[in-house]
Amino acid sequence: MKEYIIGRGGTQPFTIADSCRGVSHKHARLTITDSGEWWIENLSGPQGNGVFLKTGPNNFERVEKRRIDEDTIIRLGEGSHLSYTFMAHRAVEKPGNYAYEFLDLRKRFNLYKKAIADVEAENKRRSKMANTIMTIFIVLSVGIVLWSWLSGHGLNGMSPMLFTGLVATLSRTMFGPKTDQLKKLMALRQTEFVCPVCGMPMSDFAIANLKCQACKSS
Ligand SMILES: [Zn+2]
Repeated sequence: MKEYIIGRGGTQPFTIADSCRGVSHKHARLTITDSGEWWIENLSGPQGNGVFLKTGPNNFERVEKRRIDEDTIIRLGEGSHLSYTFMAHRAVEKPGNYAYEFLDLRKRFNLYKKAIADVEAENKRRSKMANTIMTIFIVLSVGIVLWSWLSGHGLNGMSPMLFTGLVATLSRTMFGPKTDQLKKLMALRQTEFVCPVCGMPMSDFAIANLKCQACKSS
């Protein structure tokens, strides 16, 4: 079994700078059991700055003791610049070797790009459907206007047109592209895909090449 006390005065193989004042001297305990289970435990106390695990984009959950994975993102402290965030893998890695984190970043980025492509394909399909519905109603209303004119029924030519306008708006909202979903996804690009070392946003090229263009880490 391997055990590390993580903090500004901890036994972990990487250093946490004294400027991270939200991190205690002995803040957390990370344990790797002989059977390969990873555990994290808060040592800062229930009133302390706490241990948080990343559960999703821009989302962290405070935990007291929790089984984690090697690629779990752990944050010591409330989340300001006084906190310290790292991937659990850091505990078994040489300081300065971030290959694991860069590979993980690329894996997540590829999933992200696939999610965007899926939403775009779905939007294209929905757009097509909305247009088809609209076309059907335009043809119908033009037909009704022509029929009422030719047969001398005296039907007000405007009402089918107004009806078509209403249907067009409705079909656009109900079946049209989901732009909100796409916008939300796009917004994650700058916050979720940053360099694991310096925290600067990384370009598509840099992510694919597993090397930060800002700090040159790889
Ligand atoms: Zn960097």
